[in-house]
Amino acid sequence: MRKNLTALLLVILMLVSVAGCSTTKAVSALPQSVKSISGLTANNTESQPIAKNPAESLKNSTEKLPEDPSFEIRFLDVGQADAALIKCDGKAMLIDGGNSEDSNLIYSVLKAQKITHLDYIIATHAHEDHVGGLAGALNAAAAGTVYSPVDSYDSKAFKNFLKYVRKQGLELTYPPVGKEISLGSATVQFIGPQKDYEDPNNTSIVVRIVYGETSFLFTGDAETEAEHDIIDAGYDLSSTVLKVGHHGSEASTSYVFLREVMPEYAVISVGKDNPYGHPHDNTLSRLRDAGVIVYRTDMQGDIICTSDGKTVSFTTERNANVQTNPTMTDGSEDNTVIYIGNKNTRKFHLPSCKSLPLDKNRVYFDSREDALKQGYDPCKNCKP
Ligand SMILES: [Zn+2]
Ligand SMILES: [Zn+2]
Repeated sequence: MRKNLTALLLVILMLVSVAGCSTTKAVSALPQSVKSISGLTANNTESQPIAKNPAESLKNSTEKLPEDPSFEIRFLDVGQADAALIKCDGKAMLIDGGNSEDSNLIYSVLKAQKITHLDYIIATHAHEDHVGGLAGALNAAAAGTVYSPVDSYDSKAFKNFLKYVRKQGLELTYPPVGKEISLGSATVQFIGPQKDYEDPNNTSIVVRIVYGETSFLFTGDAETEAEHDIIDAGYDLSSTVLKVGHHGSEASTSYVFLREVMPEYAVISVGKDNPYGHPHDNTLSRLRDAGVIVYRTDMQGDIICTSDGKTVSFTTERNANVQTNPTMTDGSEDNTVIYIGNKNTRKFHLPSCKSLPLDKNRVYFDSREDALKQGYDPCKNCKP
């Protein structure tokens, strides 16, 4: 018995020291500018230490769910911007708040939902289309912790956001990357930003939310570089639903990233006829290749996703059955499929295959014939 107790103590001590290391490391790798005031950092005591292999740190399971489970994400139609309200077991979290002009909309959504307390607000990054409308949220509800990757940014929208945070007697809290917080019986894992980046989009806070056997990935406007760094950090990224990065920009949702996430569904928050050409045809094509069902706020308005811990279901404000990701028919698509070969196994795959080689072992072919001619065999799984 005493032996068992000693072993248990040792395990606890090891876990505590792992948690200590990861905290220091995460903070030191990132800008020191965001100060967490002592009252707010107390929230971090809820955080769980990450296991040595982060991929094993968060297991999907329905075991811990209450008898009457409730989990809902409302992807709000805020035009060319992002805002998602997540509710679980009476707790609430808002990820981004749309543009400044969406303040009133966010305010009325929270009032209509009778949310007077937002346990967490995540401002993924400093751009106006993410923080602009958070003033409306802070007017409607008292906030618990407000996460932001920076504590200052030279824009009217950010300064206004910060003003309303301080009006509540709060300061911004740096995201505890590598740690988890609870939202009712859901777990929110902070997996990015992994580094200090110059491009504000890459500084985006990235969270994976796990509810029972279902999971949801929010990447803000993170682009390929940040996506790769998250993959390299070794997290389990597999998610039932992907909130597509950067409004469907070509620079996000890379093949490699998509392969790790393997979502069944994707939600694109994007404005109709926006000047950036979002979502990009290539991003839509990658999602098509991966067989992902796409929902879009520009076509369908608010998108509501619920989970019972086992499966997710979607309802939309309008156009439930609209073709959200049609194959291009105007002739502008060149229909080229790239084939990816593995230098070691001499097999070639479709880009959507689950067993693609590492980047360094890849060779690309423009056609099937080309691959065969060079002595590569088709993969038996993806049958290119
Ligand atoms: Zn954006
Ligand atoms: Zn941005």
